[in-house]
Amino acid sequence: MDCCICSPMATMYRLPRNAICAPCYEGAKAIISFLNKDEQEDDHGSVNSRVSTKLNGSTKGMRDAWEQVKEMRDREDDTNQRAAFLEQGFALAWKEEIHTDIVVKPGTGPPIPAHKAILAARSEVFRHMLSGDSQCKAAASESFSLPELSHDELSLLLSFLYTGALEQNLPERHLHALLVAADKYDVPFLRRACEARLAAAVEPRNVLRTLEVADLSSSEVLRERAMDTVLEHAKQVVFSPEYDEFAVRNAGLCVEITRALLAKQMSTTTSTK
Ligand SMILES: [Zn+2]
Repeated sequence: MDCCICSPMATMYRLPRNAICAPCYEGAKAIISFLNKDEQEDDHGSVNSRVSTKLNGSTKGMRDAWEQVKEMRDREDDTNQRAAFLEQGFALAWKEEIHTDIVVKPGTGPPIPAHKAILAARSEVFRHMLSGDSQCKAAASESFSLPELSHDELSLLLSFLYTGALEQNLPERHLHALLVAADKYDVPFLRRACEARLAAAVEPRNVLRTLEVADLSSSEVLRERAMDTVLEHAKQVVFSPEYDEFAVRNAGLCVEITRALLAKQMSTTTSTK
């Protein structure tokens, strides 16, 4: 059916205003209901409650929705600007080493200067390590070591602590190291960022390593995603040469895989009976 809204035809040749296609109709309904729900869930802010009054009135429709979308866009611009302001300042302080007061030593490669205040603010674990009354050696000294990280990995970790952003297209091994670090040093925002990237990239080729890292970092989301992939491609994964080495290191996970495979097999047998 042709549509008075999305038709490629010039406006003057279009159908009358009551001819609207199903996708436009459904889309309009969904947008209005989404915006109404958004208001109900989040109407304590001043901007929101103002729009909310308007949308709950008798004239709610696409025109009000459009007004609200514009306000949302303005709020997003504002948020982006604030994020950029904060990010640029912190990134500059780190990259140009402005008044740094500690150096962090990776397992390999040169140490990296940083700010105690930023480390302590981003991680309870670092705060404890840096606090004067802790028994950790980092307390009063001007350096401390994260020997499990390479220079590049440490640099990525610090960069995230300053800016809240991960570089695009990071190699998997770096994401693995960052996820383990996020768990160890208790940085939930970094954990979620790594989990999302790794979960999106799970495939039979890398699933065993992902499962191992998920287990190591107590990441339930990633673990579940990896387990599903193992079950889905069981033959390919279990008969791969990597599985031999994996089994030596991860007896517990192998038991879990065996049980999950059997459970899956039993459920398919019962359902086909
Ligand atoms: Zn349409």
